[in-house]
Amino acid sequence: MRLESYGAPLSLEEIDRPETGDGVLVRVEAAGVCHTDLHIVSGSYDLGEGNLLKMSDRGILLPITPGHEIAGTLVDLGGHVDTSLKEGDRVVVYPWLGCGECRKCAAGFENLCEAKPASLGIFNDGGYAEYVRVPHPRYLVPTGGIGPSQAAPLACSGLTTFSALQKCGLHEGDLLVILGAGGLGTTAIQLAKKTTGARVMVLDVNPSKLRLASELGADQTIETSGREKTDVVSEIKRSNRGRGADAVLDFVGNPSTSTMGFEMLTKQGRLVIVGLFGGSAPFSLPLFPLRGASVLGSFTGTLAELSELVRLAAAGTVRPVVSAEHPLEDANLVLQKLGSGEVMGRAVLRP
Ligand SMILES: [Zn+2]
Ligand SMILES: [Zn+2]
Repeated sequence: MRLESYGAPLSLEEIDRPETGDGVLVRVEAAGVCHTDLHIVSGSYDLGEGNLLKMSDRGILLPITPGHEIAGTLVDLGGHVDTSLKEGDRVVVYPWLGCGECRKCAAGFENLCEAKPASLGIFNDGGYAEYVRVPHPRYLVPTGGIGPSQAAPLACSGLTTFSALQKCGLHEGDLLVILGAGGLGTTAIQLAKKTTGARVMVLDVNPSKLRLASELGADQTIETSGREKTDVVSEIKRSNRGRGADAVLDFVGNPSTSTMGFEMLTKQGRLVIVGLFGGSAPFSLPLFPLRGASVLGSFTGTLAELSELVRLAAAGTVRPVVSAEHPLEDANLVLQKLGSGEVMGRAVLRP
């Protein structure tokens, strides 16, 4: 399923199987459908104040095969002998490739490459296809027995959540508030409950998503639909002995969620913005020093973090919520459902 022009639906096309070249070839068994794919198809991010970050300005050339949450079978190792992997191995693909040479890449942060990002499904062909070429076997993480549909979302929704949670700096008994109980939020609940000792509160506008949040272990949920921000913030403080949140994970990232997230922070609280919904927001500047508060951003995660996350998933600590599996040619339908908020957890394509 290829993107030929921004704003148009993806088109089903027959193309040549990618050349392995000096890389490796993976047969795709599952490709998760992510909100980022909606941005790629639309062609831009909303930066607020009428400004757009255009995909074409980020150096993305069309046509492209989207899909960066990829799990499948390694079918061609090319000439690589420098690996413990063998053909036939089930793998999840680390898609956040960089140039491999800049300061960030050298320090293991290829997802934040300063020179030439080369992410699969964004800058290079991705997983909405039967095969994907990966430049090196080190980007493949063995799935350790997790099925492809469960493994694929670990590469973006799982990894993004895992990395963002590390940035919250949580301690036993802290309060973590999660804004948004979609694909990322539902993974964050499980990880936070099992790895941090924090109390987890989840906010969403959709009551059925909140029921799922409770089933996954959220200590408390609040439906925010139609409610005033100040009202929600006071409810959180009331239920936490007058204190605000030690950390807030904003998986929406719009003006309303980010300002509300900032307002609910307690002293030394951290607001970690992950969602890319878009817009811009005013924050009260004196509250940064007075509360010792921080606002930071988190974008996907590192290869090392993905390996650690797959290990946790294989041990049963976290299980991505996959609500639907679709044939590859349903990509447009799934994107449309995702855009209208109808997808619980993740939907995956099975080429
Ligand atoms: Zn994604
Ligand atoms: Zn780089």
